Amino acid sequence: MRFPQTFIDELRRQADIVRVVGDYVTLKKKGANWMACCPFHQEKTPSFSVNPSKDIFYCFGCGKGGSVFNFVMELERVSFPEAVRIVAGKAGVPLPELVEDKKFETRRKEADEVVQLNAWALEFWERQLQDGGAEARAAREYVEGRGLSEETCRTFRLGYAPNSWDALGSYLKSKGAGIGEIERSGLVVKKEQGGYYDRFRGRLIFPVADAQGRAVAFGARAMRPGDEPKYLNSPETAAYTKGRHLFGLSVSRDEIRRKKFAILVEGYLDLIVPFQHGVRNVVASLGTALTPEQAKLLGRFARKVVVNYDGDRAGVKAAKRAIEVLLAEDFEAKVLVLPDGADPDEFIRAHGAEEYSRRRGQAVPHTQFVTEQALAGRDLRNPAQKAEAVEEVLPFVRAVRNAIQRREYFDMTMDTLRVEDPSLRQELWRSVSPRGGAAGAQAPADAQQRSEDVRRKVARSATAAPTVAEQRLLELLVNDPELRDAVLPHVVESDYAELPTESVFRALVTLHAAGRPVDFSTLSELTDGDPLAADLIPLVLMHEPERAEGEATDAFFAEAESCLMTLRLMSYDRRLRELAGEIAAADRAGDAELLGRLVMEDLELKRLRTALQPAGAPVTPAGDTSSSS
Ligand SMILES: [Zn+2]
Repeated sequence: MRFPQTFIDELRRQADIVRVVGDYVTLKKKGANWMACCPFHQEKTPSFSVNPSKDIFYCFGCGKGGSVFNFVMELERVSFPEAVRIVAGKAGVPLPELVEDKKFETRRKEADEVVQLNAWALEFWERQLQDGGAEARAAREYVEGRGLSEETCRTFRLGYAPNSWDALGSYLKSKGAGIGEIERSGLVVKKEQGGYYDRFRGRLIFPVADAQGRAVAFGARAMRPGDEPKYLNSPETAAYTKGRHLFGLSVSRDEIRRKKFAILVEGYLDLIVPFQHGVRNVVASLGTALTPEQAKLLGRFARKVVVNYDGDRAGVKAAKRAIEVLLAEDFEAKVLVLPDGADPDEFIRAHGAEEYSRRRGQAVPHTQFVTEQALAGRDLRNPAQKAEAVEEVLPFVRAVRNAIQRREYFDMTMDTLRVEDPSLRQELWRSVSPRGGAAGAQAPADAQQRSEDVRRKVARSATAAPTVAEQRLLELLVNDPELRDAVLPHVVESDYAELPTESVFRALVTLHAAGRPVDFSTLSELTDGDPLAADLIPLVLMHEPERAEGEATDAFFAEAESCLMTLRLMSYDRRLRELAGEIAAADRAGDAELLGRLVMEDLELKRLRTALQPAGAPVTPAGDTSSSS
């Protein structure tokens, strides 16, 4: 369900961001802003600020910023629609009638019905396991064979579905369920010629609960030899979508919160057995690989995860996929591989919980695990194998969301894989940086083109952080419509193309040309997907130049002009540096025609560059090293 954009915009305006944020932190007024100690990082002096007139917050310490919704999402660890709901509640704004209200209502009613039928089915199956007589003997023997206690069976509400075509169907009917409801529940299978039969027959039942503990689906293990498949699962229903739930979460959530980390396992017994032995901060992703939805769900309870999948090939592969998903959701991930390919269930039954916990304490950081896997069976002295290893590792570096951590992991893995050539490292680094992603995906060009790309990438990477001039120019332009009118007509695309802040400049020019307002939401909309812009926009909005109403714009205009000239000089210098390399190459190749063209361009640029510089002024801003002379 989506809220209409108009409602979200209106709510952002109506919800007083100071009041909403003030519910979580103590704000003190300071100038146009309200300040507090940041709730997102540890600090003693306040660097977290809220600007009510722009409806944004920004922390000068850790760089987090955004709208009131971003704040609630981050702090409450909830989804966007959930944050909208919370903000609307705090602001006393009624939620809009959803356009698809009727459909939604029907779906919810159906989901409630499925949950009710599941509850009845589970009652029935639990009773079968506990006192089902001879029929349930195989299931009870299996449970006892795994050492599961009565109490554990009750905690996880294990059951037994008798080997009958209609035992459950009849039971549900006797509870008053209609035929339509029973068919929609997924507990039965429809027959082509009409009617239905029980889906789960002669199987041990593991209920899958939602975070509130309501059974939304079932996994069922075959108890008779030769019964296929070994595990049979509920189909998707109104109450259950695959990949949205974690097995065990409803019983382990409190312990996960308390311990501040979760152990992620694969199967039902990998969770139940450790739980019975006192290892209770465990969840299971079940059959499929961990999904982003499951990771988000888990993220509401802990930000650290130890992945403990099977030690066989399939398990290692699934663990690697899980790591990628966890990193993309900003988790800290470690990996525990038990000896001899054992799964947690087998290991704990053989060696006990104490030995398990000791090994868990030695779980390796995900980077170590991933590089060890990439190195296994490969010889780094062989260039092709080395390239394979590098290729295998890069997606995991790319998946890290935090830029500083990403750099750390990158350097660490490149050191381990002995990638020493600095320019190659730069190129690889670009390919794992969010802004370099597209370049990494392009079709391989010929060798010279590729080496030029590398050089360009290296040159660009030298200017990865926004310069003072870029940032100041944006601060002036973003906050002052009059300055935009005066300055933007003089800005040309080459002034900002290839800058780290390119997307923000582009958005600004587009909005100005379309006569649209320039504010947090329009700028965010037009720079969607650029993480640098996401951090930069609230920052420049916060740095509003203090110009009084009606005060002359001259000084600000001059400052903006000077910033713009600095950017232009920088762009000339960038091109001149590239030209130096291209001229040398053309000279070596003996291509007189190309050489002539490049030399002309070089001379023209140097002329423009000299014309830009006022006599006696410094050639370039501090920190920018020019190679031209
Ligand atoms: Zn902060």
